Amino acid sequence: MRGEVGKILIPSDRIADRVRELGRTLADTYAGREPVVVAIMKGCVLFLADLVRAWGEAARPEHPAMDLEFVSVCSYEGTEPGKVHITLPEGLEARVAGRPVLVLDDIFDTGRTLVAVCREVERLEAVELKTLVLLAKRRAATGEPPERKPDWVGFEIEDRFVIGYGLDYRGRWRNLPYIAALREGA
Ligand code: 5GP
Ligand code: MG
Repeated sequence: MRGEVGKILIPSDRIADRVRELGRTLADTYAGREPVVVAIMKGCVLFLADLVRAWGEAARPEHPAMDLEFVSVCSYEGTEPGKVHITLPEGLEARVAGRPVLVLDDIFDTGRTLVAVCREVERLEAVELKTLVLLAKRRAATGEPPERKPDWVGFEIEDRFVIGYGLDYRGRWRNLPYIAALREGA
């Protein structure tokens, strides 16, 4: 089991620095407005908590207002992409209509998850939809390019399966404080 954790790709201090920068970007982008953050469960929980705190810090002495909503999306079966299932919370529409929305995810791979969630949010009549992901994979261009790319990316990484800082492999390793590669053959 321990043998599933491979090389550390992004150590925790680099994550913290980048999260602080992204917090400043959000403080600037949403100054004086009240966006709804739609976080895609469960992978982005660690990133989400650090990011909104960094945003609050960066906005000082202002007090940035925001709402938080969670959507559940399940697309991976082990390390293989499968069908995208989205579960929206009850009454989301009333809380999103007419407001800026920031969709947050852990990692952008084929883009199918982000595209599917953004379609749902657009249907709910958000006024300005932006997307932020911690990681984006550099993939070989095969087939159709994704319909949407994230507005902001924390780190671009090579096309390999990663774990840690919220990302799991079969439910495990979300609590690693760094991003690591899943060990070959795990
Ligand atoms: P996409 O729909 O863009 O292909 O994949 C996005 C979703 O797949 C992410 O929200 C994440 O849950 C999962 N995913 C994609 N690549 C990885 C990876 O390398 N590691 C982990 N743990 N999850 C991944
Ligand atoms: Mg996910």
